Amino acid sequence: MFATNPTDALVAGAGPVGLTAALTLAQRGLSIELLDEEPRPAAQSYALALHPGSLEILDHIHLLGDVLRCGHPVRRIAFYNSTGRVGELSLDQFSADYPSVVVIGQDTLERLLVEKLRHLGTQVLWNHRLSAIDQHEQNVTTAVDELDVSGGGYATYTTDWAIERSFCHDTSYVIGADGHNSCLRRALGIDNPEVAPPQLYAIFEFATGENLDDEVRIILGDDFTDVIWPLGENRCRWSFQLHDNQWGDDSRNKQRLAVFIGGSAYPHLTLDDLRKLSHDRAPWFDGWIGELRWAVMVRFEQRLAERFGTGRCWLAGDAAHLAAPVGVQSMNVGLSEAHELATRIAHAIRDRRPPAVLDGYNTERLSQWRKLLCLDGNPVALDSAPDWVRGHERQILSALPASGQLLSRMLLELGIAEQSMQPV
Ligand SMILES: Cc1cc2nc3c(=O)[nH]c(=O)nc-3n(C[C@H](O)[C@H](O)[C@H](O)COP(=O)(O)OP(=O)(O)OC[C@H]3O[C@@H](n4cnc5c(N)ncnc54)[C@H](O)[C@@H]3O)c2cc1C
Repeated sequence: MFATNPTDALVAGAGPVGLTAALTLAQRGLSIELLDEEPRPAAQSYALALHPGSLEILDHIHLLGDVLRCGHPVRRIAFYNSTGRVGELSLDQFSADYPSVVVIGQDTLERLLVEKLRHLGTQVLWNHRLSAIDQHEQNVTTAVDELDVSGGGYATYTTDWAIERSFCHDTSYVIGADGHNSCLRRALGIDNPEVAPPQLYAIFEFATGENLDDEVRIILGDDFTDVIWPLGENRCRWSFQLHDNQWGDDSRNKQRLAVFIGGSAYPHLTLDDLRKLSHDRAPWFDGWIGELRWAVMVRFEQRLAERFGTGRCWLAGDAAHLAAPVGVQSMNVGLSEAHELATRIAHAIRDRRPPAVLDGYNTERLSQWRKLLCLDGNPVALDSAPDWVRGHERQILSALPASGQLLSRMLLELGIAEQSMQPV
């Protein structure tokens, strides 16, 4: 096994979180190795909206202009139940600088980040997998496999992975932004328990005559939270929360053709499924439903790692947490983790401080996620809360496209206090 030149940091995973970490490090003049086991960036718009807090980060890394040019601004959050519209929140009351959420495909965001990195002279090493780490006092030795990938087959799509060659890479810090099955997390022996039951969602992107303008619509049911995102040009994404007994196990579902994303198979959905769900959940939706561009059924697990890392090895994004999709919190909080972690690492290297200065990252981020996932208590409606809020406080907390102080302010505006003293 041969060795490459040592770097200040190795970032494993070139999803939105790893790319943001790498760009933050590169802009601070650090030497980095950025690798991803896949042959290319995401080809779909999985997580599709950027919180106001993410826009601020993108501003810091000089990408906001490009994102605003490619994205679609949302300035209002509207709340519905089965009878129709019940309330709304205007985003411009919370920030003069970042008064919107921007809808942008994850694929577009990743492309913009890759281009920006390329301008700084950093290329993603696609087809390269972090396979092992050995942490020492002064550095970390990592083992990286270069993969040779070939796809084929016709009844179902199959991908064969072969290790072309392996090499050692010495680095001062490792950032594991390597997604839900994180190699770094497993190598550090960090447990990643489920903290709430998984949520099943049917996601449809389609053309519509409904005028969604510049608002996102959150639909609150007794046992579901749905969301409609405007995509611009008369298109939208509607995500419906389903229940296993409703769809998960019936024989028709088992026979549905699979959609392959990365290495995983997801059941296929049809226009009839969309029409039935929209009719049942939102009879007030009177726009026509046209061409179905993309539809998939996804199970979103809810997990939180026991730690965000240790010493010179740290996690960010889905590698450390998974959450329900409506508020797009896992990716957006992941972006802020990436930016913060990279900034802390840059300071530690510049000021020659020991890795222990990063420990605060672990405590603060764990505490933030415990609040987001309501692990220490449920949010409660204040006396000022309108009737439609009562009984839906927890759903609203996880559906709002915000985190941190902005999330607390939005909740208060709706008459919700973030946490009761009662443990759940
Ligand atoms: C079909 C689908 C629909 C989704 N819809 C939504 C939604 O509506 N709302 C929402 O909030 N979220 C949604 N998500 C989730 C969202 O995509 C993730 O939260 C987001 O991608 C997390 O970003 P990340 O950079 O942390 O991880 P990822 O995007 O998973 O990136 C991790 C990267 O690490 C690479 N990698 C993994 N292991 C290694 C290794 N050992 N070495 C090198 N590289 C490695 C992977 O190839 C990948 O590119 C959806 C996901 C899917 C699959």
